[in-house]
Amino acid sequence: MAFKDNSEIVGIYDLLLDTYGKQGWWPINNQYGNKVILNEEEKFEICIGAILTQNTSWNNVEKALKNLRNNKLLNKEKLNEINEKELALLIKPSGYNNQKARKIKEFIKFLISKKEITRENLLNVWGIGEETADSILLYAYQKQIFVIDAYTKRIFSRLGMCKENIDYNGLQIKFHSNLKTNHKIFNEYHALIVKHAKEFCNKKPKCKNCPLRNRCKYFRKTY
Ligand code: SF4
Repeated sequence: MAFKDNSEIVGIYDLLLDTYGKQGWWPINNQYGNKVILNEEEKFEICIGAILTQNTSWNNVEKALKNLRNNKLLNKEKLNEINEKELALLIKPSGYNNQKARKIKEFIKFLISKKEITRENLLNVWGIGEETADSILLYAYQKQIFVIDAYTKRIFSRLGMCKENIDYNGLQIKFHSNLKTNHKIFNEYHALIVKHAKEFCNKKPKCKNCPLRNRCKYFRKTY
């Protein structure tokens, strides 16, 4: 079943926002707060964070970013100079560090090539998949692109609004076609989804006090 209408998806957004408040993504220098205008350093930090956050928690990413920050490496020139093995050691807290060091190096090569930062070009960079590309475009470059992740699929399939095995593009189209095209809303909605997945809609959901239970197919079936 697709999203029924615009009001349903907007209603869920409103409920999540009422419940949790603004999330202030993306954190820069570990500070949350929805900066309206980002400078180049901040954009760069978001891009590196988006690569480091693959398959790990933000706490681990922040430790890796702190190591880069303390070594004054959070800029493309310095990261271009550093040896990949040294980089891998510095970002070890984020896990999969050898792979991630290579991904960062490939991303730096891409930035230095001065190719346009488009979804298509980002997806051609080794190690950058759809979720990472869209996170970079939405959070660093403030493009109107909704980020889909495993949490989004889990919550919206449990709500009964999409199939569990829906693919990335299929679910992204549903958000794009049911929401006002506005990067601020896309930014906030994705952050709220992550928050909700952590607070209530875990692998083993805590449905009884969930703010979305009255709209949720899983809840109706289970209780
Ligand atoms: S009611 Fe349960 S399954 Fe439904 S959104 Fe809430 S926590 Fe997830």
